[in-house]
Amino acid sequence: MADRDGFIWYDGEMVPWREATTHVLTHTLHYGMGVFEGVRAYKAEQGTAVFRLREHTERLLNSAKIFQMKVGFDRDTLMEAQKAVVRANALESCYIRPIIFYGSEAMGISAKTLSVHVAVAAWPWGAYLGADGLERGIRVRTSSFTRHHVNVNMCRAKSVSTYTNSILAHQEVATDGYDEAILLDVDGYVAEGSGENIFIVKAGKLYTPDLTACLEGITRASIIQLAGELGIPVIEKRITRDEVYCADEAFFTGTAAEVTPIRELDNRQIGTGRRGPITERLQALFFDCVHGRAAQHEDWLAYV
Ligand code: PMP
Repeated sequence: MADRDGFIWYDGEMVPWREATTHVLTHTLHYGMGVFEGVRAYKAEQGTAVFRLREHTERLLNSAKIFQMKVGFDRDTLMEAQKAVVRANALESCYIRPIIFYGSEAMGISAKTLSVHVAVAAWPWGAYLGADGLERGIRVRTSSFTRHHVNVNMCRAKSVSTYTNSILAHQEVATDGYDEAILLDVDGYVAEGSGENIFIVKAGKLYTPDLTACLEGITRASIIQLAGELGIPVIEKRITRDEVYCADEAFFTGTAAEVTPIRELDNRQIGTGRRGPITERLQALFFDCVHGRAAQHEDWLAYV
């Protein structure tokens, strides 16, 4: 990733890609306190547009607030920075990665004296769980690793440190040939995927875990809203893994994963073992929105 042409926004400057480096004694690299976002821009009807830029930027700043990281840039500046990175790299559709991290002034757990840095990169990134997965669905297994308890890590923050837990879970199931992992919370209820929220469909209703142990996904919120507009009831509640086994349909949502059907969990086929009709409808509507084909959600798009 480091050796390529292009530009990265780094503390307010547009820096050539290869020069956007940081010291090996960067605090975040050693202790894992940092926050970031995953955002996508799509080639939409009237040009390239970032999907829900404001919501992503607000979540980024809230993540920093939760960790008491003092960010020297406000929301509007960071929104403009993300658009500028897409333009500077002449990208039509891409993934955008803003990250906030501590500097290298000191070691040790205290972060008091540390500088806070912000970088924004962008690069082309296709379907995270595969184009085939978007259509046919993916095979998922429950990980033996538990999602963080609300007082172990801060679940509302999209933090660097959350992803050690995600990588452990994904690594474990990918080794055995599964596409993705789900993690259960400390009480054994379904929390989320390693990088996605989860939904199930049962008897025409949509269910998703409440926001205790999972990230407050922006795609999740979009799907809840779209389902409401279609008249599909949405219930946020605790979900057990066997409820997922017996669901009519299941799918993941996320900026990277978009809306990816789950065709199997723990070797139990879900529904017909294919993308179900409600999943397909919501997925199609979601793609209409991100591509600027849904007039009612034009406000979700920020043209670059
Ligand atoms: N949960 C986790 C752990 C994630 O990493 C992500 C991706 N950001 C999501 C859920 C989905 O969030 P969003 O729809 O905002 O990308």
